[in-house]
Amino acid sequence: MSRDPVLLWFRRDLRVSDNTALHQACARKVPVLPVFIFDPEILKKKKEVVRRTAFLLSALESLSANLDALGAPLILRKGNPVEVLRALVKETGARTLFLNNDIEPYSRQRDEKVSMMLKEEGVEIVACDDLMIHPPGAVQRAAGGPYTVFTPFSLAWKAKPPHDPLPRPAQIQGWTKTKGISFPTLGDLGLEKCDIPVPAAGEKSAQELLRSFVRKNITRYETTRNLPFQDSTSHLSPHLRFGTLSPRTVLAAARRVRSEDPASKKEVDVFIGELIWRDFYKQILWEFPHVATRAFRPAYDKIEWENRTDRFQAWCEGQTGFPIVDAAMRQLNQTGWMHNRLRMIVSSFLTKDLLVSWQWGERYFMEKLFDGDLAANNGGWQWAAGTGTDAQPYFRIFNPTSQAEKFDSEGKFIARYVPEATSLSYPAPIVDHSTQRLRALEMYKAARE
Ligand SMILES: Cc1cc2nc3c(=O)[nH]c(=O)nc-3n(C[C@H](O)[C@H](O)[C@H](O)COP(=O)(O)OP(=O)(O)OC[C@H]3O[C@@H](n4cnc5c(N)ncnc54)[C@H](O)[C@@H]3O)c2cc1C
Repeated sequence: MSRDPVLLWFRRDLRVSDNTALHQACARKVPVLPVFIFDPEILKKKKEVVRRTAFLLSALESLSANLDALGAPLILRKGNPVEVLRALVKETGARTLFLNNDIEPYSRQRDEKVSMMLKEEGVEIVACDDLMIHPPGAVQRAAGGPYTVFTPFSLAWKAKPPHDPLPRPAQIQGWTKTKGISFPTLGDLGLEKCDIPVPAAGEKSAQELLRSFVRKNITRYETTRNLPFQDSTSHLSPHLRFGTLSPRTVLAAARRVRSEDPASKKEVDVFIGELIWRDFYKQILWEFPHVATRAFRPAYDKIEWENRTDRFQAWCEGQTGFPIVDAAMRQLNQTGWMHNRLRMIVSSFLTKDLLVSWQWGERYFMEKLFDGDLAANNGGWQWAAGTGTDAQPYFRIFNPTSQAEKFDSEGKFIARYVPEATSLSYPAPIVDHSTQRLRALEMYKAARE
C-alpha cells in the first residue's frame, strides 16, 4: 500500500471536530498533510480583510496546536493556490487532495482551476459538503429548481433529516517531511494592524461559546433576541464564518435542548430558523452568483441612488443624529460585530432614509465585521434594500425612532454607545424621516417603471 501522504486543504473549516474532509482523509489510513494557503488574491483587498485576517490568524494558531496534538502538524504556505498545491503534490508524491467545498464565486472559480491542475497531475480530488447543514441543491422545489423565497425553503429544509456531527479523530497519522512558512503576522501578509481587540478565535472558544449559549440563552431566544441591550444571541457568527465550529454541531446542540426540554421548543425553533437563514442565503449565492455584484431582481439595478458621501460618512461614523443608528454603527466600529436587529435598522436607514446604495453599506460591513460573509451579508443588505429574494415588497421602511422605542425602550443600549445622545453636543438628525420615506418610495417606483 502507498505510504505517500494525502493532502488536506483547510480554508473556512478551521477545526478538527466534526470536519467532513478531515474525517474522510483520516479514513484512508495513510499519512495526512494538512495545509493552509494565504492567497494574495484575497489579501490584496487590504483594508477589507484586516479584521477578519486577524481572527483567521488566531483561529489558525489554535488549529495548528490541535493538529500538533493529534499528530499531524499543519503547514502554512503563501501564493496562488494552484501553484502552491502543484508544488506540494510534486514535493510529497500525494495522489489525493481532500477539501470542503465553498459556495462563493471566487472560491468556486479557484477550486475549478485547482481541480483542472490536479487532473493534469493525475491527482484525485475529494471535495466534501461541510459548509452548510444541507448543501446546495439538496433542498429543491418539488418541481425541481431552487427556492427563492425563505418560508417554503425552510419547510423543505426541516423535512430533511440532518447528518449527525462527526467525531473528533483520536489521532491522525501525520507527515513531517514537508515544511511550510512560519506563522506570519498581519504585517508579513502586507496588512495593517487590527484596530480593535480580536474575539477569542479557535475551536475551544467556539465550543465554550456554544455551551454558554445553550446553558443561558437558547431557551429564551425568541423572547430576547431582538433586544440589543440583552445581548442574548449566540455570537457564534465569526466561528460559523471561519468554521471553527460546525453548523451540524450547533444544530445538534439545539435539537438536544429541544428534546430534553419540550417546553423550550418554540424558543429553540426560532434559533434553528437562523441556521436555516444561513443555509438559505448560501444556496441563493450558489444558485444566483450574480447577486454578489448586482440586485437579485434586475429591475432594482436601475435605482438612481442619491449616494451623498457626506451622509454616508455620517452613517459610517455613527453621527447621523438618530441615536439607535449611531449606537449600532459605533458597536460595529468598536467591536466588529453588530446585533441582528440593529443590522436591519441601519441597513434600512442607509438605503431608505439616506438614499445611499445598499452596495456601499455592504462594503462597509465587510470591512468592519469579523463575521463578514458574502452570502449572509449580501442577503441581509438586499433584504433591507428590498432588492433581494424577500417576499416583502420594497415599501417596508423601518422608522428608526419607533424601532428604538420598541427594541431599546429604556434607551440602555443607546446610552452604552452614545452617552451624549441626550446632551446638546449631539448632532441634530441629518434628514427628516417622513420626507425621506416618500423620496425613497418615489425612487423605487421610478426604477420599477
Ligand atoms: C444587513 C445585514 C448584514 C448581515 N451580514 C452578516 C454577515 O456578514 N455575516 C453573518 O454571519 N451574518 C450576517 N447577518 C445576519 C445576522 O445579523 C448575523 O448572523 C447575526 O447577527 C450574528 O450574531 P449571532 O451569531 O449572535 O446570531 P444568532 O442569532 O445567535 O444566530 C445564530 C447563527 O445563525 C446565522 N444567522 C443568524 N441570522 C442570520 C441571517 N439573517 N442570515 C444568515 N445567517 C444568519 C449566523 O451564522 C449566526 O451566527 C447580516 C444581517 C443583516 C440584516
